[in-house]
This record gives sequence, C-alpha cells and structure tokens, in this order.
Amino acid sequence: MLKTFEVRTNNHNELIDITSQVQEVVKSLGVKNGICMVYIPHTTAGVTINENADPSVKHDILMEFSKLVSEHDHDYRHSEGNSAGHIKSTLFGSSVHLIIDHAKLVLGIWQGIYFGEFDGPRGRRVHVKIIEG
Ligand code: ZN
Repeated sequence: MLKTFEVRTNNHNELIDITSQVQEVVKSLGVKNGICMVYIPHTTAGVTINENADPSVKHDILMEFSKLVSEHDHDYRHSEGNSAGHIKSTLFGSSVHLIIDHAKLVLGIWQGIYFGEFDGPRGRRVHVKIIEG
C-alpha cells in the first residue's frame, strides 16, 4: 500500500508538521497494525520526528542547521546554487518509520513528524508506504 500527498512550503527553510496527514493515510487505508514508512522523494528536503509542543524547537533546529551549513560558500561546485539544501537533506534523512497500533501511529506525547524544506518555497510530495502485520 502506497499513498502520496502534497505539501506546499512557504519559506526557503521550513519545518512543517505532517503528522495528521500521515495519520489520515493510515486511517483511509483501514490498517490496524503494521509499519508505516514516510519517504521524501526530493534531494533538498527531508523528514524527521521531533517535538510538536513548543514551536521554538522548530526555530532552534533550523537556526542551528543554518550555522552548520553555509547557504553560500565560494567552494561549492554544484551549479544550481542549492548545495546547502542538498547537504541539509542528507543530514535530515529521507525517511522515518513508525509503528501502527490499533490504527494509530505510535508516537511519544511530544513527538510529531516534520517535513523539512531546505530549498523552498515549492510544492513537495510525501510518500507513505504501509506494511500490515
Ligand atoms: Zn541542486
């Protein structure tokens, strides 16, 4: 079972909570138990699981990512000008896996699934693959 949904990002660097969309996919497929893989088919975006309560955490993650990776570096060779986005995408990762139990994603009380945009704004896609069991 594979489903895809769209995400519209609004900033060059941005974290967007996609937990409810992923949960909706699980619900729409009628899956009670299994494993859910969330996969981002882009080279300048990614996905992670982190705190969904205090929005300052999103700010701090993006701020520190920007300190780690220069937006413009004279030594970058990639001609598209978005090397920072590619590097941040690799640091974030392209997929996360979640447990589905009784038709619900098993997440800690403070956890959410975040789409990471590193070369926006633009339209993006999120693939959700589910294995029942
Ligand atoms: Zn590029």
